[in-house]
Amino acid sequence: KKESWDVIVIGAGAAGMMCAAQAGQRGRKVLLIDHGRKLAEKIRISGGGHCNFTNLHCAPDNYLSQNPHFCRSALTRFTPQHFIALVERYGIRYHEKTLGQLFCDGSAQQIIALLQSECGQGQVNWRMPCEVQTVGRNEEGFQVATNQGLYQTQALVMATGGLAVPAIGSTPMAYQIAEQFGLTVISPRPALVPLALEPETLRQFGDLSGLSLEVEVSCRKGRFRESLLFTHQGISGPAVLQISSYWQNGDFISIDLLPDKDAETWLRAHGSSRVRIDNFLAEVLPRRFAQQWCAAHNLSKPLCQFTPPELRKIADALENWRIRPSGTLGYNKAEVTLGGVATEGLSSRTMESKAVPGLYFIGEAVDVTGHLGGFNFQWAWASGNAAGQAV
Ligand code: FAD
Repeated sequence: KKESWDVIVIGAGAAGMMCAAQAGQRGRKVLLIDHGRKLAEKIRISGGGHCNFTNLHCAPDNYLSQNPHFCRSALTRFTPQHFIALVERYGIRYHEKTLGQLFCDGSAQQIIALLQSECGQGQVNWRMPCEVQTVGRNEEGFQVATNQGLYQTQALVMATGGLAVPAIGSTPMAYQIAEQFGLTVISPRPALVPLALEPETLRQFGDLSGLSLEVEVSCRKGRFRESLLFTHQGISGPAVLQISSYWQNGDFISIDLLPDKDAETWLRAHGSSRVRIDNFLAEVLPRRFAQQWCAAHNLSKPLCQFTPPELRKIADALENWRIRPSGTLGYNKAEVTLGGVATEGLSSRTMESKAVPGLYFIGEAVDVTGHLGGFNFQWAWASGNAAGQAV
């Protein structure tokens, strides 16, 4: 027996529930399928359990993609204010943490409940847990074979996300379906992920684990002023997670340890000081770090014993401390996946495949990856809305 639907959405995460709710509320007969036993685990664990559900300063330049303009249309039609209005309608209390990042005062579960309720208002039907076996195409649209039966639909929306945190059920299904139907997939890789350091660097800085610094870090086109955290395996913290999305194997990253100062002017102004350089730096940097950094750079003299050219070199090293990570900590520790279904094959207005009418890709599965700070959920809501209004 074959059931017929107007729309099938595979993946009941952030983007999938948003899309299903919108399509359902427009009167479409929607089936939402997910293989998980628990609903929207990624929302539940997001933002340390408080879900950083959007960012007030959301703009296309907060996203990485082969086509940086692709996200503009969807983001313009579903803005942070639209999601905030929804959050307020449900009486969910929230606060701005830093840099425009909005978090629930209470639990991320409230956002899951909001999306579930919106789906309910659209009379969305659920199959969960349900395993999708194959997806085929015929004259009437798409046929989805599952362990609960065979479903026919006019429109199929892939919302299965990326590969981050395999322990909560990430799969490459969206990429596989894209390739099955001839769409290009940009090689996925982990992003917003801690970076590992080479053994030699770790030996020098290994016992700094747990220590954090406010820095400006840059690599390729990325530049972020946030905190950097030393860990047992390397470096993490918001600054490093952000730059990891730009970093590629073999790249150095550059760290400005004194983002508020002109280091050379500052050092020269104290050029007559008899204080040893590491003790002097310990006035503005954590002492243990200042000591290790000076030891690694063979700097042990009092400030007054350095010549002006030597002070300039030290200033350069402080403003451009270059380290070469040996890799990332991989999908287990990543918050998102870079790459995914290539945007060139999709309509930026509707997320529909240009070559395969009726087939849509939304959310993290698409080659649009946000910075840290609520931008990934905003993309999930906006792309889910774009497809939900179109199907
Ligand atoms: P998901 O929310 O991942 O949903 C995909 C759904 O598809 C899942 O329910 C999954 O079970 C289902 N699925 C997968 N494969 C199959 C299959 N084969 N068959 C059926 N169903 C399948 N972003 C922010 O903006 N703010 C944050 O605070 C934040 N915190 C995060 C914290 C952590 C630890 C992690 C890992 C991520 C965080 N993110 C955050 C990123 C954000 O969670 C994702 O970008 C977002 O959830 C992507 O939405 P999505 O709907 O595309 O995918």
